Amino acid sequence: VIGFVQMNSNASRVGGDPSCDAKCGICGEVIPDAAALTRYKDSSAQYYWCSGCSAFFLYPLPTADLNREFEDHEKAAHLADVDLSRISYFERRLDLVEEVLSYSRSGRLLEIGSGSGSLLRIARDRGWDAEGVELSGRMADISRQEAPDIRVRQADFVELQFEATYDAIVALDVLEHLVSPSLMLRKARSILNPGGVLLIQTPNAGSLRRRILKDRWNMLIPEYHFHLFNENGLTSLLKANEFEIISSFTVSGTGDEQGPGKLWSRFKECFLSKFHLGNALVVLSRAG
Ligand SMILES: [Zn+2]
Repeated sequence: VIGFVQMNSNASRVGGDPSCDAKCGICGEVIPDAAALTRYKDSSAQYYWCSGCSAFFLYPLPTADLNREFEDHEKAAHLADVDLSRISYFERRLDLVEEVLSYSRSGRLLEIGSGSGSLLRIARDRGWDAEGVELSGRMADISRQEAPDIRVRQADFVELQFEATYDAIVALDVLEHLVSPSLMLRKARSILNPGGVLLIQTPNAGSLRRRILKDRWNMLIPEYHFHLFNENGLTSLLKANEFEIISSFTVSGTGDEQGPGKLWSRFKECFLSKFHLGNALVVLSRAG
């Protein structure tokens, strides 16, 4: 009975026809259904590799409404506490943005997928005029309770109307959750000031971990990871949307390791980042 219920609930998240050939949600390339990389027993959606844009994509994709429901449920349950322990991680990401913008810390910053608002509060304390967009109503509520002075809109970023433009846009662990990453980039580009900075972090489909684990890679989560990029694919997509790449690198650990493990994790991090094999891609780009 449980199996049946699970199958049904997953099937109902899917928006397309699972029996057809798959179509890449990023570049539109059509991949034969037979080329599916993974077969999930309890899901009608599969991952495919797109040679057109070097990404893994899930097909069929859930509808936007079903994705919203799922995000609301998942995020609030798991991420609120994690967020608070990531202060130095957020500090380092803001450092990256501020290194590019010489007039740093006085501009307007928008975070897409602002979660419980930790990065926004740090940005505000550094002098930024910071605001957020968050799909999950529960996360947006937490964020507003923590900092009523920071504007957080609960909405799907691509559907929002913006009256302002921004000097910096940050999207950490967001792109992989989107039904259409291209739409998000186009929208971000349209509300960035000339020379404004976009910072993206997303799982690295070219990582050593992915190469070793293949289709057992822990980022292949059909419920909420729809597009998984490698470095070339992501930088190409950014360029196609009129972004100029400033820097692109990979990271693995938190950077906050302590004790005896610290030396080993430093060594590992050095090796992985030298060959761009780390678990996450970080791409800093500028509105060209
Ligand atoms: Zn593609």
